[in-house]
Amino acid sequence: MTELRLFNSLTRQLETFTPVHAGEARVYTCGPTVYNYPHIGNMRAYVFADTLGRVLSYKGYKLTHVINITDVGHLTDDADAGEDKMEKMAAEKAQSIWDIARHYTEAYWEDIKALNIRQPAHWSIATDYVPAMIDYAKSIADKHCYELESGLYFDTATVAHYGALARAKTEDGANALGARIEEVEGKRNAADFAIWRKTPAGETRQMEWDSPWGKGAPGWHLECSVMSEALLGLPFDIHTGGIDHREIHHPNEIAQNQARCSSDHSGAHFWMHNNFLIERSGKMSKSSGEFLRVQLLIDKGFHPLAYRLMCLQAHYRSELEFSWEGLQAAFVRLKRMVMGVANLKARHAELVSPPVTNVPASIVPNEVMVEADTLTLKQVQGDVVGVKGDVAAVIMASVNDFDTAIADDLNTAIAITALETLLSLKKIGVADQLAAIADMDNVLGLNLMALTRQDLRVRPKAALISEEEIETALAARKEARAAKDFANSDAIRDDLIAKGVEVMDGDPLGWDWKLDI
Ligand code: AMP
Ligand code: ZN
Repeated sequence: MTELRLFNSLTRQLETFTPVHAGEARVYTCGPTVYNYPHIGNMRAYVFADTLGRVLSYKGYKLTHVINITDVGHLTDDADAGEDKMEKMAAEKAQSIWDIARHYTEAYWEDIKALNIRQPAHWSIATDYVPAMIDYAKSIADKHCYELESGLYFDTATVAHYGALARAKTEDGANALGARIEEVEGKRNAADFAIWRKTPAGETRQMEWDSPWGKGAPGWHLECSVMSEALLGLPFDIHTGGIDHREIHHPNEIAQNQARCSSDHSGAHFWMHNNFLIERSGKMSKSSGEFLRVQLLIDKGFHPLAYRLMCLQAHYRSELEFSWEGLQAAFVRLKRMVMGVANLKARHAELVSPPVTNVPASIVPNEVMVEADTLTLKQVQGDVVGVKGDVAAVIMASVNDFDTAIADDLNTAIAITALETLLSLKKIGVADQLAAIADMDNVLGLNLMALTRQDLRVRPKAALISEEEIETALAARKEARAAKDFANSDAIRDDLIAKGVEVMDGDPLGWDWKLDI
């Protein structure tokens, strides 16, 4: 197998992945702030982290993945200004923060499931770790923090190379993208940030805890340092997040990790960032009415895995422009793959138990001899090929192309084409072909082995007609055509068109109809 190389934002270079603990991969992903539904851009970050995890598993590492849920502490401005996002939404909706957090966490988990993102080893909920956060803050307070009226602040001048990850120009130790010094009176450096925010005198917050610095709540940056250390130990292998986190949130986590470990290491060997999904009309903004959520894609008749495929068609470090046409193209591509797998499965089933005919039992198709129903991709790459010689070299070639692509900083765009090439091969051991496709599918997470044509018929919310009605109408049309009653068959077709159903005579993918909404 090709050695895994990943782009490390710390060095801005591709580096060979060598685990901290032999045979293991420990990964921490910054999770959502659950004050609202995630938009599809947010979900790109988790498709990326999930694909990374799948690749690490495929490469043989025992994966421990942590994704956190931020239910306290994230302000409306990453650089320590504004209101707490959770408090603000709770006030707007006149609901308890705990209810808000529960509702949006569940909605996020629905999207995780819809996009076939694997369950991490731990979902760490920030509010479960507040006592640990207070202990952590106490352990670094003397050397690295100072107290102001509004909270306990981290002095970014007390650690070496503060902000190196962001590569921002610094003035007076300030992160160019960070806060300005005058925003909080008494701050020593512009980039200094609160690790504990005191509840202002005379106010009560819905979420507040006692601490040595008074009643209050933890700072957002503190949360991830504490939970990653608690669940993965320092240093761990890979820390992921969206590219915006490279500027403030992750430099601040690194500063805390440095303070905590009294060393020069950042806490994780690799810091990896996905680029943004861009949508120019503003529909992705959570403040717009109907914003782009996974559920909206489903309501419009798209299968959510078409969106996963859309993400995987781009490199995770490239910006990806969202369009409905692009999503439609990805959906058609997904359908082709699912139909391709279905055809192979049908061929395989036929070979294993051929239909009863008069052919003598001694004449069995060659492919039945390839018994490797349980063959795995690794076996295809390893000894089995040489020993048995029954796996076509063409399968190996696709498998190698796939492996080379994903090992090259997760080049999923190329890996998908390797899978498609393998799907299109004819007259090779179909069992081996399916086994290799199943392993590739495990890495890409498109669920090709399980999805059926029926699953892909997602009913748009606004559809005026049910599937059964369509099928009945189509059967009647078929009868009319058979009886050469073209007036009736055209009338049925026109009626279907009026209800948004496009009748697809002779569609190469074998789809008889689709709903256009
Ligand atoms: P938040 O809930 O705001 O903390 O964001 C959750 C994750 O989504 C973070 O890793 C962000 O960096 C990431 N993210 C936010 N907007 C986008 C976007 N448009 N495209 C890709 N990732 C994003
Ligand atoms: Zn984080």
